[in-house]
Amino acid sequence: PDVLARACGVCKSYGPVTALDGIDFAVTAGETVGLLGPNGAGKSTLLNLLSGLRQPDSGLVELFGRDPRSPLARQLLGTTPQATSVPATLRVRETVDFVGSHYADPVPTGELLDGFGLGPAANKQCGGLSGGQQRRLLVALALVGRPRLVILDEPTTGLDVEARENLWERLADYRAGGGTLLVTSHYLDEIQTLASRVVVINGGSVVADGQVDEIRSRVSVSRV
Ligand code: ADP
Repeated sequence: PDVLARACGVCKSYGPVTALDGIDFAVTAGETVGLLGPNGAGKSTLLNLLSGLRQPDSGLVELFGRDPRSPLARQLLGTTPQATSVPATLRVRETVDFVGSHYADPVPTGELLDGFGLGPAANKQCGGLSGGQQRRLLVALALVGRPRLVILDEPTTGLDVEARENLWERLADYRAGGGTLLVTSHYLDEIQTLASRVVVINGGSVVADGQVDEIRSRVSVSRV
């Protein structure tokens, strides 16, 4: 199988805190993987390693078979780190144009914004968007370069029901077009609408990995 991202025996600590404890994890082309786990489980740390924002203390991390910090690998990745915020004074259209200009074949800005319900906000400054609009813009930016793999950390946090459904639709479109998706959530319900596979981590290790139904029968509560 075509492994797009993987971590083998990866450890990562922050001072005395062990965030990842020898974790093994891989994402194969065409999958939608839901990464679940309680706060502090190590989800963000794993995503940050896979997207090249941090380095492991030990073990191997690869993105498209390369060091995740390699520009060649990063060009094929679309991502929205949890902490990222939009540039306050740039207009929405300018922001999408700017990010898209880094890619060979970006999605046309108007098409992308319409898909995310942001067409009417195209000429607004990003700082003037609502919190939900900003989050949708960030996900749109993750998709603008037609990436082979998209990594999203809790993309629907703070969104109302309608915006949440719209976002899942756009991600379903991306997947239907052959895209591969790795997404974290606190909610199994949310993950199961889209994910083909669910990986549960806790204490920096994988504690369950399988099809949604399999995991559901093992994890009795919908909120992990
Ligand atoms: P999750 O995304 O599942 O909530 P994290 O990867 O953010 O988990 O955190 C894993 C552990 O590492 C937690 O105990 C957290 O407090 C700690 N941690 C994460 N980032 C840092 C950091 N920058 N400095 C110190 N500790 C951190």
